[in-house]
Amino acid sequence: MSASGAEPSVFSRIVAREIPATIVAETDRIIAFADINPQAPVHIVITTKTEEYRNVVELAAGDPGLLAELVAVAGRVATELSDGQFRLVFNTGAAAGQTVFHVHAHVLALKPSGDAAA
Ligand code: 5GP
Repeated sequence: MSASGAEPSVFSRIVAREIPATIVAETDRIIAFADINPQAPVHIVITTKTEEYRNVVELAAGDPGLLAELVAVAGRVATELSDGQFRLVFNTGAAAGQTVFHVHAHVLALKPSGDAAA
């Protein structure tokens, strides 16, 4: 159950291993996994293991250290899975395309590492 009393978010269910996902990185407070509906050759979701923050603005205000950790994990993942050059997208609000109200970033990269043809 989330802090709001609502059902756990889909990402909390991934953290709890209730929903399978391809997890690519994990720390005590952050988890990164492949997006189920990739919009780029490399598309990884980076999120917090708890869901008290609905979006990046709330996270920045409430726990800037955790936001910094999330960004650091994004950078590591992008370096491991691509060439370290990437878009980091935080959809914020339904009108901006946010569908999961559990703070997360999208790492979008063009070229999987080792892809000589790209
Ligand atoms: P948003 O639209 O909120 O910025 O991003 C939510 C993302 O979560 C979407 O890109 C969507 O494809 C991804 N997503 C939703 N449900 C699942 C799921 O069950 N597993 C995985 N791996 N990704 C999901």
